[in-house]
Amino acid sequence: MADDAASGPATLAGLGVSPGRTAGPCLRMAGPPELPAPYAVPDVDAELAVVGKALEAVAEDLRRRSAAASADRSAAEILDALAMMADDPTLREEAEQAVRDGMDAPHALDAAFTRHREALAALGGYLAERAADLDDLKHRAVAAALGVPMPGVPSPGHPFVLIADDLSPADTAGLGPEVLALVTVRGGPTSHTAILARGRGLPAVVACAGAADLADGTLVAVDGGTGEIVAGVTEVEATRIREAEIAERARLAATSGPGRTADGHPVKLLLNIGSAADLRPDGEGVGLFRTEFLFLDRRQAPSYEEQVTAYADVFAAVPYVVVRTLDAGTDKPLPFLGLAEEPNPALGIRGLRVDRVLPDVLDTQLDAIAEAARRTGAEAWVMAPMVSTPGEAAAFARRARERGIAKVGAMVEVPAAALLADRLLREVDFLSIGTNDLSQYTYAADRQHPALADLLDPAQPALLRLVERCAEAGRAVGKPVGVCGEAAGDPGLAPVLAGLGVTSLSMAPVCVPAVRDALSRHTLAECRELARAALAGD
Ligand code: PEP
Ligand code: MG
Repeated sequence: MADDAASGPATLAGLGVSPGRTAGPCLRMAGPPELPAPYAVPDVDAELAVVGKALEAVAEDLRRRSAAASADRSAAEILDALAMMADDPTLREEAEQAVRDGMDAPHALDAAFTRHREALAALGGYLAERAADLDDLKHRAVAAALGVPMPGVPSPGHPFVLIADDLSPADTAGLGPEVLALVTVRGGPTSHTAILARGRGLPAVVACAGAADLADGTLVAVDGGTGEIVAGVTEVEATRIREAEIAERARLAATSGPGRTADGHPVKLLLNIGSAADLRPDGEGVGLFRTEFLFLDRRQAPSYEEQVTAYADVFAAVPYVVVRTLDAGTDKPLPFLGLAEEPNPALGIRGLRVDRVLPDVLDTQLDAIAEAARRTGAEAWVMAPMVSTPGEAAAFARRARERGIAKVGAMVEVPAAALLADRLLREVDFLSIGTNDLSQYTYAADRQHPALADLLDPAQPALLRLVERCAEAGRAVGKPVGVCGEAAGDPGLAPVLAGLGVTSLSMAPVCVPAVRDALSRHTLAECRELARAALAGD
């Protein structure tokens, strides 16, 4: 493990994926508890009390988390439903009977939950999908009976730095305000977990192998920009770091106005959001509304009306929004789609390709987007993720235009799309380059792989050459070509992208001030020079 405070602070290296500095005690996300060997029960009444208290502790913890998540209606509903499952009197009675029959409390709870899980799974359909929830409850109840930390995100009642082996996008989306920063042992720089952290302005470091050994309670300083973790800082130092960060954010927040180079060349600064809750009063509109983030933990398809409301919430707040249709698959599974497991999901049915197996999903979504735009009078542009051919772009554009959507675009995330950018632009009104996936597919490097971060770096010339090709195709026909991958929010890269000719940069709201600042420090000629140098690099 890192040196403890007595031997001085120790520095750990990871990949910074969401900027910002903070410090506080770290707490890890516990894994499922291990069942000990069965033991003889000396006092049945005491053992019955252990069962009761464990189930009550689980339900109480879920209710507390539900109250904390009350702003997020769907998260609170899920937590309430789980609390009711933990309170189920039949389940409790079964566990208690097992104790009366001589079983110890942890095994009695394990057996009762396992039986209920099997019964639910046998019912099929929606209820079978809830069976996995019972595993989670079982682990929590057994942990409570054993007196070890419950698995999942801790809720200690004070701010802390969360340490986890890895986090799913759904876990990240559900993190409460007590979490100061996120540090994971695994994960890649453009994983969707990293994107969600950035969207929330939560400093985050991934691929930090040393974090696995940090003891709970160690005071750590986290730099989500450089990826550096210092373990064993003092309380005084931790307070100083938090105060300095507040001052730096205030300094950058004082910048305002549209994106411009030093000589006034406009480059629109747009926001990447997952819901209306991510909106901030900055930027010139929304350049990427990741609609799938609205429905990550949904087991039933969102209805047409529910979608209209969710989209209208954003449209009503921002007059210009680029909506991306659902990008499900790989690390963003949408349970309600029920997609089959695949051996190679990143190369399989994801993004627009879901339409090949479930065409109604896109039709309903396009209907809902068109209706939300009508109701709010917003300028809603629509684009499809993972477009690979001009034919796919044409078919998508036809279906969107049939519904009265005026501006239709394609994301460029696959090298084939970048190579034929000119032909894509015969079919659609704009392109938006998703550098996260474009890096992944250009370099054949899994975007979640911590050991391949160098291959995923969008500053590499092969990737920039593809960006340049798209920007030139746009310039030739006078159509906008923006970047909405994480590269757009990197203040070091933004002037290069502007020099390559992209017309907008769309990023997590937290990144806008620093990118605005970076653009304003270079003339367009300097940006072009930076782009030439980057294209000529290794
Ligand atoms: C991208 O791939 O760059 C992109 C913006 O889409 P996502 O990160 O949501 O896959
Ligand atoms: Mg993508």
